[in-house]
Amino acid sequence: MAKKNKVRDEKMDKLVSLCKRRGYIFPSSEIYGGINACWDYGPLGAELKRNIKDFWWREMVHKRDDIEGLDAAILMHPKVWETSGHVAEFTDPLVDCKKCKSRFRADDIEGDACPNCGGELTAPRQFNLMFKTFMGPVEDDANVVYLRPETAQGIYVNFLNVQGPSRQKVPFGIAQIGKAFRNEITPGNFIFRTREFEQMEMQFFIPPAEDDKWFEYWREQRWQWYLDLGIREDRLRWHEHGPNDLAHYAKKAYDIEYEFSFGWKELEGIHNRTDFDLSRHMEATGKDLRYWNEETKEKFIPYIIETSAGCDRTMLMCLLDAYDEEEVKGEQRVILRLHPRIAPFKAAVLPLVKKDGMPELAQRLYDDLRRKFKVFYDAGGAVGRRYRRMDEIGTPYCFTIDGQTSEDDTVTLRDRDSMEQTRHKIAEIPDLLESKTNGC
Ligand code: ATP
Repeated sequence: MAKKNKVRDEKMDKLVSLCKRRGYIFPSSEIYGGINACWDYGPLGAELKRNIKDFWWREMVHKRDDIEGLDAAILMHPKVWETSGHVAEFTDPLVDCKKCKSRFRADDIEGDACPNCGGELTAPRQFNLMFKTFMGPVEDDANVVYLRPETAQGIYVNFLNVQGPSRQKVPFGIAQIGKAFRNEITPGNFIFRTREFEQMEMQFFIPPAEDDKWFEYWREQRWQWYLDLGIREDRLRWHEHGPNDLAHYAKKAYDIEYEFSFGWKELEGIHNRTDFDLSRHMEATGKDLRYWNEETKEKFIPYIIETSAGCDRTMLMCLLDAYDEEEVKGEQRVILRLHPRIAPFKAAVLPLVKKDGMPELAQRLYDDLRRKFKVFYDAGGAVGRRYRRMDEIGTPYCFTIDGQTSEDDTVTLRDRDSMEQTRHKIAEIPDLLESKTNGC
């Protein structure tokens, strides 16, 4: 909750500053003074985000025979959001302070006074989180459309459109990555809660009788995904939704939470949504969305197990988890210990000095590597400083070309985390990098 006297989150302050300085993330429209809680991803941020999404897509779609991808439109028929319950119920209780005019989510506040100034608060009123806009030139109620607040509905309404052509049989899933928009009352904590964000969602359609089995299966899979991202397991935990926070449509729900510098917070929800979504869309449209089981000659409405993760939140977790500082020979070293799989640059190629044929050899290695990997070439300044720069942006390996290279065709491999240096044949570097970055 936003309390004025809250302790400064020093780690977050340092990360925000590093992200700005090194081109990971900066405020949107900054030269106009920025816009609240909107962020732009710079060259490194765009790479990191893409690597996270690619890893999710590879694990959830490419490596599996039973999940298909989808890329549905952000704007959908407005009735979709009536049917899903978002028009009536996608609300947060909002209160205003009568004295300092601050605005809060009522469920974030303990007691009945303003956390900022102790002033009197208004009675809570429900505030719908969906962004509205108009389709076509006439701005009236008949032309209202919504920016989707979740990507899931695009999957439900396309259930049979995907199932038919892909010839999938239940159980199978549909996965989608895309932007979602929520007019949050209290966005904040950098990119943790924003009004425009990306979701990575997968809806798995199953026979109703198998729901417990698949629910447990997806809990395990999704937990493992975070470990494979390089996240420390002791910073992850489960939160089971109890009677107070279980959504009306869910039979069971768990969140995976991460211990952010500002507390334990949700990363991803895994929900047993039963047949709620398909039933509602069937009722609203009169279209038969039941699945025909050839073998048993039965028609049924599948249950859905949903895994719904936030891409930006995952990115913030990766950055915070990776951020580290240490003292080396009296100097501070800042390191982003990002897993090589998601690091923006997999390696840097550095000629020790700009003479004696070193730049030419380095350029050749760089050209060779970049056919397959995102690598960085840096020839300027003291090599120690160049290493530090790579540490700070999370580049896991540096290859340094020195005087010995022209004599025996070897280069130095310098490891970001241990700072250890080892020598390797230049011809073996592409394979070595391949094995160290796990094929990414
Ligand atoms: P919260 O309780 O944090 O508001 P939620 O339970 O409303 O989240 P879901 O509707 O389950 O979230 O959305 C699935 C995922 O989408 C969340 O786990 C989160 O990672 C991401 N997400 C949701 N809202 C936001 C937001 N405003 N900014 C960034 N990511 C978000």
